Amino acid sequence: MSAAIHGGRAKCLQRLVRLDLPVPTTVALSFDAVKKIAEGLMPDVTEILEPFGDAPLLSVRPSSQDPDWGGPGAILNIGMTDQLHAKMCKTVGEAAATSLYLRFIQSYAVEVAHLDPDSFDLPETPTHEALALALKAYEEEMDEPFPQDPARQISAVLASMARAWEGTTARLLRQARGAPADAGLGLVVQAMALGVGKGESGSGVIEFVNANNGLHQITGRYLSQSQGREALTAESGALYLTKDPRGKSLQEICPEAFAQLLKFGGICRKSLREEMQIEFTLEDGVLRILDAVLVQRTSRAKVRIAVALAEDGIIPRQEAIMRVEPTALSELLHRQVNPDADRDLIVRGIAASPGAATGRLVFTANDAQASAARGEACVLVRRETTPEDIRGMHVAQAVLTLRGGVTSHAAVIGRGIGVPCVVGASDLVIDRKAKQIVAPDGRRFSEGDTVTVDGTSGDVLAGEPPMLEAALDGAFKTLLDWADDYRDIGVRANADTPADAQTARNFAAQGIGLCRTEHMFFEPGRMAVMREMIFADSPEDRRAVLDRLLPMQRADFIELFEIMQGQPVCIRLFDPPLHEFLPFDKSGMRELADALGLTMSDIQSRVEALEEYNPMLGMRGVRLGVTIPEIYEMQARAIFEATIEASRNGAPVVPEVMIPLVSAMKEVELVKTNIDGIAASVANETGEAFDYRLGVMVETPRAALRANDIAEHSAFLSFGTNDLTQMTYGLSRDDAGRFMSVYVQQGVYEEDPFHTLDVEGVGELLSIGAERARESVPDITLSICGEHGGSRSAIDFCRSKGFDYVSCSPFRVPVARLSAAQLAIRDHAAI
Ligand code: PEP
Ligand code: MG
Repeated sequence: MSAAIHGGRAKCLQRLVRLDLPVPTTVALSFDAVKKIAEGLMPDVTEILEPFGDAPLLSVRPSSQDPDWGGPGAILNIGMTDQLHAKMCKTVGEAAATSLYLRFIQSYAVEVAHLDPDSFDLPETPTHEALALALKAYEEEMDEPFPQDPARQISAVLASMARAWEGTTARLLRQARGAPADAGLGLVVQAMALGVGKGESGSGVIEFVNANNGLHQITGRYLSQSQGREALTAESGALYLTKDPRGKSLQEICPEAFAQLLKFGGICRKSLREEMQIEFTLEDGVLRILDAVLVQRTSRAKVRIAVALAEDGIIPRQEAIMRVEPTALSELLHRQVNPDADRDLIVRGIAASPGAATGRLVFTANDAQASAARGEACVLVRRETTPEDIRGMHVAQAVLTLRGGVTSHAAVIGRGIGVPCVVGASDLVIDRKAKQIVAPDGRRFSEGDTVTVDGTSGDVLAGEPPMLEAALDGAFKTLLDWADDYRDIGVRANADTPADAQTARNFAAQGIGLCRTEHMFFEPGRMAVMREMIFADSPEDRRAVLDRLLPMQRADFIELFEIMQGQPVCIRLFDPPLHEFLPFDKSGMRELADALGLTMSDIQSRVEALEEYNPMLGMRGVRLGVTIPEIYEMQARAIFEATIEASRNGAPVVPEVMIPLVSAMKEVELVKTNIDGIAASVANETGEAFDYRLGVMVETPRAALRANDIAEHSAFLSFGTNDLTQMTYGLSRDDAGRFMSVYVQQGVYEEDPFHTLDVEGVGELLSIGAERARESVPDITLSICGEHGGSRSAIDFCRSKGFDYVSCSPFRVPVARLSAAQLAIRDHAAI
């Protein structure tokens, strides 16, 4: 018997039988047999009934290949007839026998004969009259008496379950859960173990781990027939009958059965190599095992269970690694809304940075800072964020924007600093005057109202639902350490600040793959100097101002190098267009005029001069490096001086300097000449030797196409797939959110290409770039540092092209480590 022919439940029951567990007689029907039944070809029912002896009571349960694919509900007590009822009144008592018969009539009428459920509600007490009424209702609806032939009953049950599997709704549901179109259904016919009798009788389920955290803990539910089948709550340690006037646990009532259950639990864990929930009955104190299914579990429990099974030698480490979906880890790295909590939905947007956080609504970065200064948690709401909002984002508990997609500013920063973020909540309206947001259902939420942003699901919720804390526990670390033994591609982090770098180290990133230096200039005190630099009239004046920024940059890099303790740190030179540093409203301009001692018209004309129609394709990246070389010169000096300083105090540092937005070899040549010059000066001035590597960020299609000559001047190439996707599609990163969901819904794009690497298009440019770069420099270091870097599909692609590493947001590093290990194990198994 195999799960692919008879389904998972049948396979599992067969194993329980082989393990000598007291499983009632069971017959399994294969996918093929059930398919034929659905087509009207009923097998010989007497043959099916034969192993069960005379007048059996049976259950039929579904057995799909994967339990997650569902199936029709089980039907119990098949075989119940007037005759058997009369007989059972004597053996188990009238109430129990009548209750069983009523339950069967109800499920047969509703599930098999498809009659109106209202006519078959179960009565409060199972009386003779109630039974007569149910039988009469059936007869009236069907124009024939309730079937009294067990063979006919079972045939009808099998046919209805087989046909239910073929129905359109069932088909769509299981396909949504990943089942193939031709997924089969097996059926399991089993003798009922009733859990009724004169001695201690009842039914229950038991499991041996806590489904929330995966720790060993016995929980379950036991319904004692002697207590009138009331639902009894389970507690840890034993199955307590909390409503039982005896106040006793199953362990106390029936110690032998309880000991047997523990023993069977151990056997199942070892032999089925899983934590199982066992369904059982007691009949006069005799234990029967009806079924065993996987314990449903949270992601946290999944990790702990997999690690514990491997540590106990039950499964190999590779298997533990393969059993945890990488996305489950990202749930563990952040606080989550408790899955059991009620959710009062305000609006749904795009889930852009995972985790959930609660705070009071604020509408500006300044208010977020004021709120933080008061020690109040806040949620920053903006139409979209700009670099000016960064300080507010840092102190906010969560960020919500109405515009933008997964690579918009808010999303990238949110992920980078680990702040939960929902973007593109375009159904929400901001009423600026009233300082309110207006939900699609018309509800208004004012500044100061408490909301919760769930960046994992994309939901924004009213109030403060209960949360589950992040769990960086031992099992999590163990699993990732094991994963690293199999992984064959490096994983670095995109980290801009010391806090990011520390997170990257905590998650065992193998260095920083992208440090976006511009974020450093938004720090308090630096913005003003930056603006002064922008307003400088000559290169000399500019240099003078940049000299004031130099010590600050140097301190930034020293801190980063020290945190990373000799691991590689790839610093990207200044990238954004300068206008991002200028005020955009009148009051901001007035303040700046004041600060710089200039007139309003001076300020306005400079702002206008820097204005661009398409700034992301304008004067930014290396174009600034070529036209205003002083900025890169200052940064290079800061990097090299920091290198000397940090190497003096700790592990030797070999910085990597990366040039953004390159499209032509000449740009690299020009910048390289300058930077080499600065390195030589620093070495001369200090008398200290140091190494560094200069590389290029390949994020324009032309840079990928010309990678052969660009590589000649580069120690490494790192593909910036955010800009490369934007330019390959001709699709603005900040505006794509407006129509992306329609595009994906209509299947124009399979996925949002800013989210999932477009292997066919952007991937082609990556392949060409890698191939051409290696033609001129065979051992050049290749990597990817766009937001795609942490995703499984991008890692798969980068491994296939022999890239050296991927770099992703610090919080995605563990996910990337696990994905990379799984891919390596998969490939190894396929050999
Ligand atoms: C990129 O373009 O892929 C990238 C990593 O840089 P940024 O997102 O800063 O433009
Ligand atoms: Mg870029």
